[in-house]
Amino acid sequence: MTPTLSTPDRIRDILVKYWGFDSVRPLQHEAITATLAHRDSLVVMPTGGGKSLCYQLPPLLTGHTTLVISPLIALMKDQVDALRLIGVSAAALNSSQSEEEAQQTWADLRAGNLRIVFIAPERLFTGNLIERLGELGITHIAVDEAHCISQWGHDFRPEYRRLSELRSRIPKVSFQALTATATPRVRDDIAQQLSLKDPATIVGVFDRPNLTYRVHQRTDLVGQVIEAVERHKDGATIVYCISRKDTESLADDLKRHKLKAAAYHAGLAASTRQRVQEHFKQERLDVVVATVAFGMGIDRSNVRCVIHAAMPKSVEAYSQETGRAGRDGLPSECLLLYSAADAAKWSRIVELSAKEHDTDPAQVAHQLALLEELRRLVTGSRCRHRALSEYFGQEYTPTSGTGCGACDICLHESEGVPDSTVIAQKILSCIFRAAGSDPDRPYHYGAKHIVTILRGRATADVTRRGHQQLSTFGILADVPADTLGNYIDQLVDIGALGREHGQYPTLYLTAMSWEILKGKRQIELRATRASESAPDPVSGSEPAAPFDSGLFERLRELRRELATQFGVPAYIIFGDAALQDMARVRPTSPESFSRVKGVGERKVAEFAERFTSIIAEYCQAHNLSIDNAPTPSGPRRASRSTTGSKSPAKVRSFQMFDQRRPIDEIAKEVGLTPGTIHEHLAHYIEERKPADIHTWVDPKTYELITTTARKLNADRLKPVFEHLAGLVPYEKIRITLTHALGSRPKGV
Ligand code: ADP
Ligand code: ZN
Repeated sequence: MTPTLSTPDRIRDILVKYWGFDSVRPLQHEAITATLAHRDSLVVMPTGGGKSLCYQLPPLLTGHTTLVISPLIALMKDQVDALRLIGVSAAALNSSQSEEEAQQTWADLRAGNLRIVFIAPERLFTGNLIERLGELGITHIAVDEAHCISQWGHDFRPEYRRLSELRSRIPKVSFQALTATATPRVRDDIAQQLSLKDPATIVGVFDRPNLTYRVHQRTDLVGQVIEAVERHKDGATIVYCISRKDTESLADDLKRHKLKAAAYHAGLAASTRQRVQEHFKQERLDVVVATVAFGMGIDRSNVRCVIHAAMPKSVEAYSQETGRAGRDGLPSECLLLYSAADAAKWSRIVELSAKEHDTDPAQVAHQLALLEELRRLVTGSRCRHRALSEYFGQEYTPTSGTGCGACDICLHESEGVPDSTVIAQKILSCIFRAAGSDPDRPYHYGAKHIVTILRGRATADVTRRGHQQLSTFGILADVPADTLGNYIDQLVDIGALGREHGQYPTLYLTAMSWEILKGKRQIELRATRASESAPDPVSGSEPAAPFDSGLFERLRELRRELATQFGVPAYIIFGDAALQDMARVRPTSPESFSRVKGVGERKVAEFAERFTSIIAEYCQAHNLSIDNAPTPSGPRRASRSTTGSKSPAKVRSFQMFDQRRPIDEIAKEVGLTPGTIHEHLAHYIEERKPADIHTWVDPKTYELITTTARKLNADRLKPVFEHLAGLVPYEKIRITLTHALGSRPKGV
């Protein structure tokens, strides 16, 4: 520390030395300088905003000890380990420690050797601990997850209420309260409960530009989840379900499709839960299908995808859960698979629980209102980034005129179904006819029965009621059942159909139904567009500089090994952003390694050798340039990397190639031309290198093509095609040569 340096320079020095970052973010700077000026502060930043640095950096400049109150004992060890790995002396005081460890911590505290001490609030109020801490000259206290002090927050902890006592019991201490909870009510409550004195209030922007929000109609849950998981193979996915039962059955489905997945809910044995958490942190497990019980205490930073298998119960819950994606600031996806039945299911849960617990009707109404807010957001057609920001009381300004570029709405991922009104009329008319001839005593049926009639399936249920005689029997035979069910949901959503609440969710016609039936009203049904290429979040974002994906994978492997060796979560060794930067810079010396973003002095000493030797070896084998100049810090609003992301349609094709399905069949199912499917197949053959491709090219033709190519000494298509005088289509030649040569032939 050089006393002559200005404060910003001193902050920067510390940041480079310990964290290996170039600069503090503007709000981090404000928070840090408030603390250095011994001023109270309230720091409100979204998840991933960089709150930790706000309390971790100042003690390194002042040489004092900062006390950090944190409710998450499970995370304390990780936080301490992470700090120690970058060379910051830190410790924790909590009930999970041995007497010996606690004594060591006290000895270090008295000797003035610790910069940061984490403590759980319940521990703080045992014995004369506070006075003992006061005598040690603690001058700054950071209260992490400060919303726990407020009953209006989502995670109220009564023991947080006593924190205000600290004010009188340790005089001259400055407070820093940190939270990601955006609501003004909670914010005010925190300031009041902690008696903050004229606090510097530092509030970040809540929008998370690196997240792409998608709300898709749930038509084929398992297929849709698999597609999304496959899109994010290079990171982790959390799938949230409403019920415990659902988590288990979906996890089983995924396993059946050869995905490594585990279920997680509060009903599992503690040891099972512990194991899932550990494996997830150490990156030995990438897909967890969970209830909301999975979350607190999970701070893996490279969760690339959060899927909601059904709509959650409020915008707060949705934002909390999606918040777990992309904490490292890299592009990540939040996919909500919606069905109108979800809202009905939640209302039922709320009502049942209210009955059981004799809940105050006002509280029930409040919960239903929260549910309705989310339903509106989900079924609405406004930009998701905007809708979320505005819900939390912040204005949203997209960077381009065409919207955020990172949500299903702005990316135009759904499109109107042709002849929507006619389809709706057929559905409504089927419900009308099934209801019977007595208008005073109509029979109502659920969606499943109506769908069976529309598709013309003469099941026992249908024939028993004589419904195979209805004029609407089989009038939508060519529409898949899931899709029809989904159209019915959409009709319910817009009020074009009614659905009973409760045990029998039967359908009935509404006034709007009649307007549609009589041709007085047009409606539009929406379907997710079968897109050819995965839409990139463009959002006025600088594209992230490309990195070598093979090397990145290799570095992840090394990280996993080190995590196991050190007994820490993988992201504590290095985050994905640092590994990607390594795969760009490709350092082969400690000096060059230190230029990678997120690599501070201590990590150079600890890890340079292992990483640089692997990088050198890889680059030599793959003929790649090494020790490149570091990439300039771009904006954090990064876009998807250029590596290996596949479109949903392509992922589907790949799955069907795995099952060896014929081209035409796949084309029909995916909704693309056979030409495009052949294109996918060439990629598939190149990537997966199947032993043979007899399903798509019979052995004789294969032989003919390859011998011709050999004879002509050709690695291009045209000479072979011409030589065979149009005997064999271009596509067959292309995939055969791809298979025979190991890569797609260059040019025609
Ligand atoms: P929060 O606690 O607000 O959720 P974190 O403190 O975990 O956020 O930080 C989120 C991510 O941002 C981490 O991966 C962290 O390393 C990174 N980060 C924080 N500050 C900076 C900075 N100034 N420059 C670059 N990366 C940063
Ligand atoms: Zn948008």
